[in-house]
Amino acid sequence: MHIEQHTFGPTDMVGGDLALDLVNTVTARDSKPRDWLPDFPALLRWARQSNAFSARDLLALDRLAAAEPRKARAALTRAKALREALCAVTYAVLRERMPDAADLARLDAAQAAAAAAAQLVRRDGRLHRCWNVQRSQLDLITHVVAMHAIALLEEAELQRLRVCDGRDCGWVFLDTSKSGRRRWCDMATCGNTAKSQRFQQRKAPSARHSA
Ligand SMILES: [Zn+2]
Repeated sequence: MHIEQHTFGPTDMVGGDLALDLVNTVTARDSKPRDWLPDFPALLRWARQSNAFSARDLLALDRLAAAEPRKARAALTRAKALREALCAVTYAVLRERMPDAADLARLDAAQAAAAAAAQLVRRDGRLHRCWNVQRSQLDLITHVVAMHAIALLEEAELQRLRVCDGRDCGWVFLDTSKSGRRRWCDMATCGNTAKSQRFQQRKAPSARHSA
């Protein structure tokens, strides 16, 4: 898979769920996939854009990664293993197929590791499972995403899971629209491209074969 640097922005966070947004750090899965996580700092920049992590935790992770670059590379490998297993399981669910046993085993291992690192914290009179850098170390992002993934696959309305219809996209998202007929990851990008392509084809039907 081609690996490249990418500047993450709000339009990269359209999955409707943190776990799906991690899957979408690979783009064009339907054609020539490009991986936007070349290194651990890229994972940190993605995490910052997701707004799911505190600035303090991200700073602590940045320092840890700088001090232990080999461990950071290993942590990135684990994050990507989770991402790819999650992608495979999500696509299987979308296509109403049984997920691969190896992918399920990888998800299971990720959630077990996350559960082992969780800390119970009392807040608003209730107990919550929380994750922190002290316990999760460089796997904090992976642990949090793993638990999001399990919650999504256990509880979400899976009939609302979609893969974008856009060419060179392959992003997955939760369709929260009222009609339940959202086809594009983002109307402003894939939706518009498809519309302008249809317009071009109507204008010059023969042009379709000339490219
Ligand atoms: Zn798309």
